[in-house]
Amino acid sequence: MKMVFLGPPGAGKGTIAARAKEAYGIVHISTGDLFRAAIKNETELGKKVKAILAAGDLVPDSVTIEMVRQRIAQPDCEKGFILDGFPRTVAQADALTGMTGLDAVVNFVVPKEVVVRRLSGRRMCPSTGRIYHIEFGPPKVEGIDDETGEPLIQRPDDREETIVNRLEVYDRSTAPLIDYYRQKGLIVDIDGSGSPQHVFELMDAALKAL
Ligand code: ADP
Ligand code: ADP
Repeated sequence: MKMVFLGPPGAGKGTIAARAKEAYGIVHISTGDLFRAAIKNETELGKKVKAILAAGDLVPDSVTIEMVRQRIAQPDCEKGFILDGFPRTVAQADALTGMTGLDAVVNFVVPKEVVVRRLSGRRMCPSTGRIYHIEFGPPKVEGIDDETGEPLIQRPDDREETIVNRLEVYDRSTAPLIDYYRQKGLIVDIDGSGSPQHVFELMDAALKAL
């Protein structure tokens, strides 16, 4: 199964992708995670994109498209994949069409005030990228990753000033992809406002009904 997860920052794409990856035995490709790994490893790509991520702006299409092209050409993607956070612009979506077919584009629908609460309480394990929420999905010990024991961090772009810009960028550049994929008959709308388990079950049923 080849899928795109669409929805605003904080909609729960990464959380549901972590479950879907296990349930369906497919690869989870998060462009945000790939950029954060490059920044952490101080690669050329990382140096190029660091300030862009910190500001909550989009990395140029050419850079992002090339990174995804290389990733989905890897043999582990043959059985299927979830693209989480890509495409984010019409140019990226057009490029993706030239790279692969898709079975579904899951559109997670979540009210803006919920998204803001989710983003501002999000915490992350710096080495594994595992996601928590201070209220909705806390670790067993406050501030500590359940498995690695590392201190959790708040992503710099999850601070309030940057959240506002990211949501504007989403409305301007990414939300038009909902119509783009609806016209292609690929959109599966999922109410993302319930618990992760509930959202996963809604999606699973919708995908099985395709
Ligand atoms: P979230 O899950 O909160 O939406 P991501 O982890 O997907 O955030 O992305 C973090 C940042 O990485 C984005 O704000 C943007 O700067 C950059 N980024 C990720 N994916 C893309 C993309 N497809 N095109 C351009 N920039 C991207
Ligand atoms: P995205 O990848 O779309 O940016 P995440 O999966 O990182 O979103 O989720 C954003 C925050 O909201 C995280 O802190 C996560 O723990 C929390 N979260 C995700 N899904 C839900 C949900 N269904 N209910 C409550 N909190 C959630």
